[in-house]
Amino acid sequence: MKPNLRNFDLEEIRNFLKDLGEPPYRGDQVYHWITCKAAISFDEMSNLPKILREKLDKAFSLSLPELVELQRDEEGTTKFALKLEDGEIIESVLIPERDHFTLCVSTQVGCALGCTFCLTAKSGFKRNLKVYEIISQVVLAKRYLKEKGEELPLRNIVFMGMGEPLANYKNLVKALKILEDKRGFNFSRKRLTVSTAGLVEKMYELAKDFPTALALSLHAPNDELRKKLMPIAKKYPLKVLIKALKDFPRVKNGRHTIEYILIKNINDSLIHAKELANLFKKMPVKINLIPFNPHPELPYERPEEERILAFQKYLLSQGILTTIRKSKGLKISAACGQLRRRVLNHFSIPNSCDLKATIRAGTIS
Ligand code: SAH
Repeated sequence: MKPNLRNFDLEEIRNFLKDLGEPPYRGDQVYHWITCKAAISFDEMSNLPKILREKLDKAFSLSLPELVELQRDEEGTTKFALKLEDGEIIESVLIPERDHFTLCVSTQVGCALGCTFCLTAKSGFKRNLKVYEIISQVVLAKRYLKEKGEELPLRNIVFMGMGEPLANYKNLVKALKILEDKRGFNFSRKRLTVSTAGLVEKMYELAKDFPTALALSLHAPNDELRKKLMPIAKKYPLKVLIKALKDFPRVKNGRHTIEYILIKNINDSLIHAKELANLFKKMPVKINLIPFNPHPELPYERPEEERILAFQKYLLSQGILTTIRKSKGLKISAACGQLRRRVLNHFSIPNSCDLKATIRAGTIS
């Protein structure tokens, strides 16, 4: 099989072109086409000689995943189910904001972490995504926006889709570097947000290799409860995890985001709010409360509105910046893993499973 050209950074592409006897600027031209212009064929590359386009086509693939289902709500949040070359399905979600779009991307097929509230966990872990499979989600979103004639730019990428980004570390970092590269996609680093369930060693590695905006999925204010919700908590106690968060550079003095799914009668009482406040009182964080997104296969419920607001009110009263992830009132399967599950079940899960736009968290604006 031909290697997919989206796996490579500019230096590597320059070298490929050099091997084909071409000057370095040809590499830059090709790179511009596959990033800024979101090209899907060498034929589109009108400033390259035809013979070179043919040579490239013989050596490399530019194929993208196949869009197998698209759901769009009335406010424009669009969820894509994408079929990879080996038939696996992943999801990405495009979210309109005031003056830009945010794209939520997946980093793995399935997930090995087994968080009890997450649908992706139910299907277990299949495999890591390749660099080009991560990048392709961005290319598809860019093409989609272009085809729709959308004026607003795609400006934020959040690594909050399926999978644990830090468990696919090497590919994640390479994808981040390609996305940041000014000669190509040119995403600002503070607009690339990595969300993690808290793989501490990898947090330290990322702090060194590519410190981005960080969102930590906490979901519980003490170890006992966190261990029940997230098996990874058995490995990393909160003390160690919060130290790692403190040690993680804040991109341009932004705040780290703490994600906290509010689950009815599990972690949503004022006692929990108090514990949470004590953990983060003196830290520059933003707590993003995420009302649990129910699903027939998940054992929890969403708290009532007043309880969610009371939880937020308490944290605010303690001087902690706290937001609630907005429901966009849509009928799309937007919580982590839900669209994929629908596609895999051949659309057998009805739309009634209370579906919300997720993933407004984690962006530092
Ligand atoms: N593994 C990474 C990224 C994927 S999960 C992490 O843990 O951060 C990212 C987010 O998906 C979670 O923080 C949560 O915000 C969301 N999520 C997963 N299942 C959900 C559910 N049932 N309801 C609401 N949000 C959910």
